[in-house]
Amino acid sequence: MNDFYFSIASFPFIGYNEGNQTKVGVTMAKISMLTPLVEMDGDEMTRVLWSIIKEELICPFVDLKTEYYDLGLKHRDETNDQVTVDSANATKKYGVAVKCATITPNAQRVEEYNLKKMWPSPNGTIRAMLDGTVFRAPILVKGIEPCVKNWKKPITLARHAYGDVYKNTELIIPGPGKVELVYTAADGTETRKLVHDYTTPGVAQAMHNLNPSIESFARSCFEFALSTKQDLWFATKDTISKQYDHTFKDIFAEIYEKEYKDKFASAGITYFYTLIDDAVARVMKAEGGFIWACKNYDGDVMSDMVSSAFGSLAMMTSVLVSPHGYFEYEAAHGTVQRHYYKHLAGEETSTNSVATIFAWSGALRKRGELDNLPDLMDFADRLEQATLNTIAQGKMTKDLALITTLPEVTVLNSRDFILAIREQLEA
Ligand code: NAP
Ligand code: MG
Repeated sequence: MNDFYFSIASFPFIGYNEGNQTKVGVTMAKISMLTPLVEMDGDEMTRVLWSIIKEELICPFVDLKTEYYDLGLKHRDETNDQVTVDSANATKKYGVAVKCATITPNAQRVEEYNLKKMWPSPNGTIRAMLDGTVFRAPILVKGIEPCVKNWKKPITLARHAYGDVYKNTELIIPGPGKVELVYTAADGTETRKLVHDYTTPGVAQAMHNLNPSIESFARSCFEFALSTKQDLWFATKDTISKQYDHTFKDIFAEIYEKEYKDKFASAGITYFYTLIDDAVARVMKAEGGFIWACKNYDGDVMSDMVSSAFGSLAMMTSVLVSPHGYFEYEAAHGTVQRHYYKHLAGEETSTNSVATIFAWSGALRKRGELDNLPDLMDFADRLEQATLNTIAQGKMTKDLALITTLPEVTVLNSRDFILAIREQLEA
């Protein structure tokens, strides 16, 4: 069991006690829960996996309590998206949610599902209501080696999800003329800065951010670092952006000094700020096992790099952490539409359910932590270990079989992979 890259205790968002004893034998009585999880069902192939996971891996072992919200696109449309809002409110009430991947409608989906309108992304709605930050972490397993050979532990990426280039105002400059930035204060006084005096055609762009959003981002990062006992790195381009990026740096530093310095010291973790270029260089040489907080654009780009270098999008977990202490767990990938159409056509699929299983285990563990239910936390550990053991034994879905370094591999279909995990779990 210890031949994994890292012990299960080093997984992000696991409040795992290293002193825990592995349970011997299977208890027949189901593990009980106190507070319901907020269950957000979703779309397409992940919805298919969702019900098999519940039926085979959760309900036989846990007396599952959930408050169910159907975020499937059809039901979002029927409720004018009220169900998404209700599910976010329920998360504020209970504290922990588990979410299935959902379709973000585009023009093609509006037609496919005959939608009343192009509803917004449920993740966007939920994130805005919980004021949270998304942390993405790879699931490491023997046989799936990171491209970067010195990465031995997960690198968790935290992306600020507000503003910057994602809420920009752009202008095509057709020819000679001036572009200025004008701030008009509430009392009418103006502050002006010249952006550029154009002599040729060109382009211009303005961006903004808000201190409360940066503060929430910082607090979510510090809280998550504490709860997972991992160092926190943060980086911006403050040497060039002396006011904009420097404000991010200052806000993080101020909150750290005032609220987290002592807590970090007693947890034995560090907060480390550096220039983004330096961070990128260091990440490539690091061993992993830390949280990397990024501004919006850096996080967008770097999370794709980190996740693909760790092996597979199907092995990335995602947790939304709000500074108020709400948690929403999900897989980082989408609804795997291409596989779903095969499934609908009656063809066999081999869709990887690992990240969705880890969304469930993450949520159950957090529920166990908050409600002081060691059996539930222990079950979450066992479910994850059974999943990793199944892969390490060479039983995996097609996406992993294509990249594994294991010599002998059995490719399983979507259901049989989950059944193989159940066998492990019962063993
Ligand atoms: P996707 O569902 O992540 O799938 C893209 C491709 O990645 C798949 O076709 C598949 O490759 C591979 N893949 C992803 N997850 C996999 C898994 N679990 N097992 C095996 N292969 C996996 O992205 P998409 O097809 O671009 O988006 C589909 C829908 O998901 C969209 O409507 C989008 O709005 C939604 N979406 C939702 C979320 C969310 O709810 N958090 C996130 C992203 C996207 P192959 O086809 O080559 O096998
Ligand atoms: Mg991206």
